[in-house]
Amino acid sequence: MATSLATLVLKPGREKSLKRRHPWVFSGAIAQVKGAAEPGATVRVVGASGEFLALAAYSPQSQILARVWSFDEHDVVDAKFVKTRIAASIARRELLFEPQRGQASGPASERISNAMRLVHAESDGLPALIVDRYAGTLAVQFLSAGIDAWREVIIPALQELTGCQNIFERSDAEVRELEGLEARVGALVGSAPVEPVAIREHDMQFLVDVVQGQKTGFYLDQRENRRRVRQLASGRRVLNAFCYTGGFSIAAMQGGANSVLSIDSSGPALEMARRHAQLNGLDSDKAQWLEGDVFQLLRKQRDARGEFDLIILDPPKFAPTAAHAEKAARAYKDINLLALKLLARDGLLVTFSCSGGVSADLFQKIVAGAAVDAGVDAQILDRLGAATDHPVSIHFPEGEYLKGLVLRRLT
Ligand code: SAH
Repeated sequence: MATSLATLVLKPGREKSLKRRHPWVFSGAIAQVKGAAEPGATVRVVGASGEFLALAAYSPQSQILARVWSFDEHDVVDAKFVKTRIAASIARRELLFEPQRGQASGPASERISNAMRLVHAESDGLPALIVDRYAGTLAVQFLSAGIDAWREVIIPALQELTGCQNIFERSDAEVRELEGLEARVGALVGSAPVEPVAIREHDMQFLVDVVQGQKTGFYLDQRENRRRVRQLASGRRVLNAFCYTGGFSIAAMQGGANSVLSIDSSGPALEMARRHAQLNGLDSDKAQWLEGDVFQLLRKQRDARGEFDLIILDPPKFAPTAAHAEKAARAYKDINLLALKLLARDGLLVTFSCSGGVSADLFQKIVAGAAVDAGVDAQILDRLGAATDHPVSIHFPEGEYLKGLVLRRLT
């Protein structure tokens, strides 16, 4: 019963963001907590004058003190509610990949990839829940106290709705700590995969280590951008910095690149990247894999007068939140400046930021500053974002973490 829930009362004037349907309540906005609530419990959030604003999941240890389940007072957040949200999120994925007229029948998504994000947290109405499907295996992250409280409902629901017989938990992201939760990694349904899971993306084959790989094992968000790189790569000398398991490198080689130099600091990731080249039947003479620090190795390339026609920069999250933006800006500027210098005239730079704390606007300004300092002129040919199975709620700009630019160096 909604009336028995504990209540978070906001300070005067702090109801604005909830009225705009932003799904987070920060601890600093709270005047009073009425009643007792366990971590993860559903609470009512009301304005200073007592008006109902939202039902939300309580996370007493976090700065994000509550994450909204619903703006409708009549909703009841129970197992059925949570399961319905999950079913809706999964069903929407089929609509994303709707078949073109005249295409063969069958699940439309299968033609693009058998790997995709089924639940994208806040933007799918399931705050802090990530569910990635890799063929018959699901990799799941419960990243807040609020979603963790529903794990025993969510796990069987996922099994039932997807038919996947292996569900593996990767709740080892740092944000769990901020929620007062321990890292949890292990099989939830079935057994932990002993071998990497084989997936297909467009007509590329990849192996995903859901147990030890980064995040849930693979950067699904870059799917369409990998395809874009493939289209741009023909006849070019390519540099792929921060290559992880070589997604962009494989795409570039398939697209007919003359050579691909790939850099990452992770040995196991590069090992997997080499396997990917083999698995996709690519000419290994064209690929060079370098283990090391991109900041240093780009400088080395510059000093050796290296030159490339297509450079991809896909660094890790330098700024998890806006508080880190300044330091991150320096790092983004540094690598973009070096990359622009390494580009031949008319060469292309495909540059990304996956920092929630750096907006698309700010990112563009940083890259523009890098061009000035590099003494080059450049054009924006395209703006890139995450693939459509990573939708962004229009009320939750933080969900738009991945942004990219395709630039052409002019002079
Ligand atoms: N483009 C990749 C994903 C990149 S994730 C894809 O599409 O799959 C970022 C990568 O940067 C990780 O693999 C991480 O190991 C690597 N990394 C982080 N800091 C680095 C550094 N200073 N130098 C080189 N690699 C780094």
